[in-house]
Amino acid sequence: MTITKVYTKAEIERLYASLSAGKVCKTPPYALFQIRMSDCVITAYESLKVVFQGEGAAFYSGVVEPQASKEETLTSTYPQAGSDEVGTGDYFGPVVVCAAYVEKKDLELLSTFHIQDSKQIKDEDILKIAPVLIDTLKFSILILNNTKYNQVHEHNNMNQIKAKLHNQAFLNLKKKFNLQLDTIYVDQFTPPKNYFRYLSGEADVVENIHFETKAESKYISVACASIIARYYFLNTLAKMSEKYDFPFPKGAGAHVDEAGRKFIDMYSENELLHVSKFHFANTKKILNEETL
Ligand code: MN
Repeated sequence: MTITKVYTKAEIERLYASLSAGKVCKTPPYALFQIRMSDCVITAYESLKVVFQGEGAAFYSGVVEPQASKEETLTSTYPQAGSDEVGTGDYFGPVVVCAAYVEKKDLELLSTFHIQDSKQIKDEDILKIAPVLIDTLKFSILILNNTKYNQVHEHNNMNQIKAKLHNQAFLNLKKKFNLQLDTIYVDQFTPPKNYFRYLSGEADVVENIHFETKAESKYISVACASIIARYYFLNTLAKMSEKYDFPFPKGAGAHVDEAGRKFIDMYSENELLHVSKFHFANTKKILNEETL
């Protein structure tokens, strides 16, 4: 039996004090301590998650009741699949959608990281965490490059593009690993009714989905998908920067307009179609057309 809970620093100290009878083991990576009781191994991680393993897990996890209610992610159903997209707010670079599959057996490893919404994680940490997730989890990834994006956007709005990518990511996940997905979470970007309307022309639609806003901070599968997607987004942007010998900035602010102007000086207006989301308001500012 394995139980995982999230504590505050003070609660972890209380827990440690109450377990002083146990044998203190060699501490695994990312752990604050690991204590071996006769019927339970208790590992506290730097992420403030504590994993109780063994017959006595229920008992020892009740010794100190955590205030932190981040347990939501930990009491959810497993296995679970979740998806999220990245790049929809960035003028340069692709839209990336990932669907990730998390099984109970993955939770211990995942608990060594502070898995959360990728937007809350620094890029340098994404580059450290994502490769571990990529090695461990079953997932599928879709990268819609700018050339393709701009073609597709002629006939589909952003939400429609997202719906199709999420659906395809789950179809690919099922097929690639021969999975039956019983529990699916999607970070809601449009009401479910619209989501399925956008997919009305598709041959194959994954239907049993729980849509929820802020799902990245509620379901670990969505958080993992968001981290993996972010990783591929950063990688693609880095490859673009290498190809064009040009540093593409993230986001869609004034710094992006400035970069866009430099880019068309080096290349051409037409080349913007291959590196940007052309319909963004940035394009007009870059081409100085906002007053027309
Ligand atoms: Mn999202």
